[in-house]
Amino acid sequence: MTKQLNHWVGGREVAPSSGQFDVCISPATEEDITSVARGNSLDVDAAVFAASDVADQWRFLSSAKRGRILSDIGRALRDRKEEFARLEIEDTGKPWRTAISEVENSADYFDFYASVVNLPQGDVLDINGATLHAYTKREPLGIVGVITPWNLPLNQIVRACAPALTAGNVVVAKPSQTTSQTTIALAQLAKDAGLPDGVFNVILGRGSEVGNDIVQHPLVRKIAFTGSVGVGKTIGAAAAEKIMPLTLELGGKSANIVFEDSDFDFAVTESVRAFMLNSGQVCSAGTRLFVQRGIFDSFIEAVGKKISELRPVADYGPSITQTQYQQVHEYFQVAKEEGATAIVGGSKDLPEGVTKGFYVQPTVYTNVRNDMRIAQEEVFGPVLVAQPFDTEAEVLALANDSDFGLAAGVFTGTIARALRLADRLEVGQVFINSWSTGAVQTPFGGNKQSGYGREKGIEALFHYSQVKSVTIALR
Ligand code: NAP
Ligand code: MG
Repeated sequence: MTKQLNHWVGGREVAPSSGQFDVCISPATEEDITSVARGNSLDVDAAVFAASDVADQWRFLSSAKRGRILSDIGRALRDRKEEFARLEIEDTGKPWRTAISEVENSADYFDFYASVVNLPQGDVLDINGATLHAYTKREPLGIVGVITPWNLPLNQIVRACAPALTAGNVVVAKPSQTTSQTTIALAQLAKDAGLPDGVFNVILGRGSEVGNDIVQHPLVRKIAFTGSVGVGKTIGAAAAEKIMPLTLELGGKSANIVFEDSDFDFAVTESVRAFMLNSGQVCSAGTRLFVQRGIFDSFIEAVGKKISELRPVADYGPSITQTQYQQVHEYFQVAKEEGATAIVGGSKDLPEGVTKGFYVQPTVYTNVRNDMRIAQEEVFGPVLVAQPFDTEAEVLALANDSDFGLAAGVFTGTIARALRLADRLEVGQVFINSWSTGAVQTPFGGNKQSGYGREKGIEALFHYSQVKSVTIALR
């Protein structure tokens, strides 16, 4: 018997007007787990109107009260982290400690934004020898649509919704149809923590239907989208028609650069963590490894050894969708045809220790050229490509020779070199001597095909608000 998931509109569960549901399976067991409402444009309309009804109430609530509610949501999430982790594991098959840390990180967002709810403030401007006086203030955009994928379901919803709500917006969210459970659970938790009905609504369904309806809706004033480049372009085109701002977070093929003067053992550990986190299903995964030639062979051997010790289920989860599982296997074929060498993994067989589920062998390729597809395209699985380099200038050119520009890592004992590279790498975030910590304070987003706009940090509040100036004649 599957669990039935309905929409969340105006502070309560609402059945889909179509009466239709999609059955979703566990990627770890391949068993049916949920029947998820298949929304349509009528459902999206209902959510938009519920949000619109309370937009002013939420926007003009004192910021102290808004902050208290956000803080209460964060506390409740932390108190119930095991329950949320269990739901996330049902949908995604993640290892327990990964799921727990994602829920804790989600609570961090509410804590952080609750603490900066009064920021950013406006300015006061004197004009024309003070015959004019002006002030600026930031105001919310109104109804924000949030569309998220399946790799970090709760985390990605919260990453967009916490700053959007803090800035005084109301939200209509659509999680990935395959991983909807924690978003619906969050809606109930937020209500219990005091969020007024209608401020946060969730319509479940397919991207081409509900996602598209949210993007097209005339009353939706901004979209925060996380997902593929292709869908990002479609949403970008629709947004151009509406003259609507976007935050697009579209993934990457991030370079991790290791110099001979780095801390060898730590750099090995971090290089594995960088691409194995969430089985490579992280937009900022460090999936291109560049190692200086003098240590290349020993470094890759150490990376390979560490990977061989990882166990499915306990240490890493499956591909979260069947389509993704098949895509990773297609890239194994691509790499083979291109002449890359798999030093570990690279076979379609299930990893040792599992007999079902969409588990993929962690894989490292050498004999890779930067123009190969396996070195340029996002696999979104536990797949690393490794290349040697000689000089700083050479590795900078290799790292920047990518359509993507999300993140990069630099491991070196020479801080000046690290900072020179940090300035020149064409990415939104650089990690020096440790791969990303996921801290909520640091702005996050991409250059080039990785997208635009920034999530996280104070910076995100600027992307969920706009400036108004008010000018007063002193006469
Ligand atoms: P996707 O198609 O871009 O899906 C992301 C979200 O957008 C889902 O909620 C999806 O709904 C929705 N969507 C799909 N088409 C839409 C449309 N026309 N209008 C509005 N919303 C729409 O991503 P995917 O198919 O799950 O994954 C494909 C590839 O994207 C992966 O292989 C990976 O390379 C990349 N990816 C990147 C990230 C990231 O963090 N940047 C995350 C996941 C995937 P559904 O419920 O129907 O899927
Ligand atoms: Mg898709």
